[in-house]
Amino acid sequence: MLAQRTLKTLTQAVGVGLHSGQRVELTLRPAPVDTGIVFRRVDLAEPVDIHINALSVTDTRLASTISSGQAKVHTVEHLMSACSGLGIDNLIIDITAEEVPILDGSASSFVFLLQSAGIELQKAPKKFIRVLQTVEVREGQGENVKWAKLEPYDGYRLSFEIDFHHPAVDSTGQQVVFDMGRDVYARDIARARTFGFTKDVEMLRSNGLALGGGLDNAIVMDDYKVLNSDGLRYDDEFVKHKILDAMGDLYIIGKPFIASYTAFRSGHAMNNQLLRALLDQPDAYEIVSFDDVKKAPAGFALPVRAW
Ligand SMILES: [Zn+2]
Repeated sequence: MLAQRTLKTLTQAVGVGLHSGQRVELTLRPAPVDTGIVFRRVDLAEPVDIHINALSVTDTRLASTISSGQAKVHTVEHLMSACSGLGIDNLIIDITAEEVPILDGSASSFVFLLQSAGIELQKAPKKFIRVLQTVEVREGQGENVKWAKLEPYDGYRLSFEIDFHHPAVDSTGQQVVFDMGRDVYARDIARARTFGFTKDVEMLRSNGLALGGGLDNAIVMDDYKVLNSDGLRYDDEFVKHKILDAMGDLYIIGKPFIASYTAFRSGHAMNNQLLRALLDQPDAYEIVSFDDVKKAPAGFALPVRAW
């Protein structure tokens, strides 16, 4: 049987929110079979559980925000991406503020935390969402066009293309393909950081956003170059971060995909629209599990691979 996964033990992190600049503590806890991933706002008078699913996403400006009633958690995508990359099915995330800490701006600190806690195989089959028919969302025309689609594929593959003209980006790859059956998430994707421009940072700050952002947790560019003294972590770090974000956004559906995702200039909003479009079409997917590990698509059956 290909089994569900949780953590062996709990693990903790402290950091600041990218937008709020607020100090926040996270405790990642093992959870029983079929719990899914739950964010628990433990700072509220009555703790509130927010179960991730496509409809729990209530805001996609700058980051993915999930809500239950008045309780919110902003910027869930990098932690969700790490859970997707490591195949974590069940997890309770205690959080003491409204925003997940940004840490180093990538998913690698979350990968490190999850791997340090150890991954436990549980006594129930892992459930996948297998795409049976192509579902696509599209917006804009000509130069402004952007789109994202899910297609049937015997594995999990993501292909992303950006169209981003800037001297620091032009020379790097604008397109990248990540295939779970061939590549290693922790090594190839997880270290890619979020990026931004000094002029946008100033504008965001004047609106009370990006208060926790800086050279420690983002690639920052002026009009000509990358300002971080140690440069880029990957030659194509920008587009790899878009894959990292997409993996987090897609995992909000609550199960790993067996599908191919292809996107051109997509973002948090469009990724969530794609999930909703899929769920609106019940004949476009099915839920499957694997009694025989050998029948599972490549990359899923293996224990978590390290760096
Ligand atoms: Zn991101």
